Amino acid sequence: MQNSQQVNIRHYSFTHTHSPLMASKRLAFLVLLILCFTANLHAQNSQTIIRSGHIDSADIFKLIYVPIKVPDGITGISVKEEYSNPSKNVLNMGIFGEEGYDLGNAAGFRGWSGGAKKEFFINEAQASTGYVAGPVKKGTWNILIYPSTIDREGIDWKLTITLISGTHQVPFKAAPAKTTVNNKAGWYRGDLHMHTLHSDGKRTQQELADEAVAKHLNYIISTEHNTNSANLQWGKYDRKNLLIINGEEVTTTAYGHWNAIGLKPQTWIEWRYAPKDNTIKRYTEQVHRDGGLCIINHPFYTPTLTNGFAFNPAFFDGIEVWNGNWDALDELDLKWWNDLLKSGKRMLAIGASDTHVSSGSPNNLGTPQTIVYAKTLSQTGIINGLRQDKAYITSIPDLKLDLSAEHAEKRAGIGDELISNENVQVSISLTSTLVPADATLTLIGSQGIIQSLKTTNTSGLDINIKNTSYLRLELRDSNGQMLAMTNPIWIKAKS
Ligand SMILES: [Zn+2]
Ligand SMILES: [Zn+2]
Repeated sequence: MQNSQQVNIRHYSFTHTHSPLMASKRLAFLVLLILCFTANLHAQNSQTIIRSGHIDSADIFKLIYVPIKVPDGITGISVKEEYSNPSKNVLNMGIFGEEGYDLGNAAGFRGWSGGAKKEFFINEAQASTGYVAGPVKKGTWNILIYPSTIDREGIDWKLTITLISGTHQVPFKAAPAKTTVNNKAGWYRGDLHMHTLHSDGKRTQQELADEAVAKHLNYIISTEHNTNSANLQWGKYDRKNLLIINGEEVTTTAYGHWNAIGLKPQTWIEWRYAPKDNTIKRYTEQVHRDGGLCIINHPFYTPTLTNGFAFNPAFFDGIEVWNGNWDALDELDLKWWNDLLKSGKRMLAIGASDTHVSSGSPNNLGTPQTIVYAKTLSQTGIINGLRQDKAYITSIPDLKLDLSAEHAEKRAGIGDELISNENVQVSISLTSTLVPADATLTLIGSQGIIQSLKTTNTSGLDINIKNTSYLRLELRDSNGQMLAMTNPIWIKAKS
C-alpha cells in the first residue's frame, strides 16, 4: 500500500537590513524559496476525496459506480473502503479508468478485488494484486462497489480516495507467460482452476508456480475472479518445464461462475450481466475468438441458486464436474453432465482443484488433475486437446488411464468417435501404485452401467454397443469415492 505524501510547510524568518546588495540577495533567496516550495508541492501533492452512502438490503447485487474526477498531473490513486458490519456484509470493489465502464470495456478495466481487499493502489509502475498498473490519466474514473451479501440493516459505506501527483515512473509493461514449453505430443497433467493474491487466494504467483513444479504438473491455468492482472505478470515466474495458461474465473455471485481459459494475456472477460440480459453469448464468443474455451464451474455450488448454473449451458464447452475433493455436489455435477451426454450434447468434463490456500487445505493444487492429450505442450496444444475432449480426471498423482474401443481395425480413444453397429472390443489400461486393490472400474453408456470390473481385468472386453451412444469409465474406491473418470468415446451407428 502506498501512503499519501504530506506537504511539508516550513517557516522562515528574515532580518531587516538597509543594504541594497543584501536586499537583492534577499530577493533572490526568496524567489528560490518560492520556486523550491512550488516544486516540492508538485512532487508530493496529494488530494483526498471522501465518498459515502447507504445501500438498502433490497439492493443486493446492484452495481454502484462512484465517479471520481482525476485532474491532470496525477500519477497514482489509492482507495480505502470501509463499511458497516463486515462480518455479515460483503461489499465487493473494483475500478474503471477514464476510458469508461461500459460493458466489455477492457481498456477501461483497471482492477477488481471483489470482497478480498479493503484497499488498493494503482500507479504508473505498480499496483496492488488484482489491479492493473499504468498511467493514471486525467478524466472521470469510476469505483465500482457491488454488495453480494447484505444484512437487514443494509450497508453504510465510505470510500477514501487519494490522488497523488508525483514524479513520473517507468510505466508498467506486461510480462505474460511463455506460450510453449515443448513440441512433443503426449498426455499432460495439469490443474485448470486456481487463485492467488490476485483475487481471493492466499499464495503469491511465485509460490503457486513452485508448488506446481513440486507436484510434477505440466500445466496450470490461472483463473482469478474477474481480473486478468495475474496473466499480465506470469512471465516473471517462468519455470522451465511448466506451462502457465491465461484464464479468468468470470464470477457473478448471483448466477454462477465460469472459467474462460486459453485467453490472450490482455483479454478481460466481462461479468456484469444476468441470464435475462441474453448477453452471455457475446462473452463466450469473445473467449472463442481468443482461441479459448468456456467451462461452467462447480455448477451446484452457488449458494444463492437452487438449480445450479443460471446461464444457458448451450453456449459452453465444458463442465467442471469435479471441484476439489470429491463430494455430494460433484455427484450432482456428474449427473447433470451425464444427462447432457445422454441428450447428445458433446460436453467436456474437467476436474480442477480451485485451490485458494496453501498445502494442507481441503483444496490442494493438483487434486484433482486433468490429464490432456496434446500435440505440443503449449497453450494452443492443451486447449485443442481439451476442445476434442481428449482428457481424463484423477485425484491420484501417478495414475495413468486409457480407454479405447475398436471395431473393424478402427480404433477410437477418449474423445474420439467410433462408427459401428456391432460389438466393439474395449480396452482399458490402468497404471498406478496408489490405487486401492478393492477399487472398481465401471464402464458406463447412455443407458447406464454396462459392466463393472476389478482393476486387474481390463483388456479385450467384448462389448455390445447397440444401445449406447457413448462409452466412458469411472474408477471408484470401495466407499464410492471417485478416483478417476474419463471423457466419453462417442459411438455412432453406421447409416
Ligand atoms: Zn468459483
Ligand atoms: Zn475459483
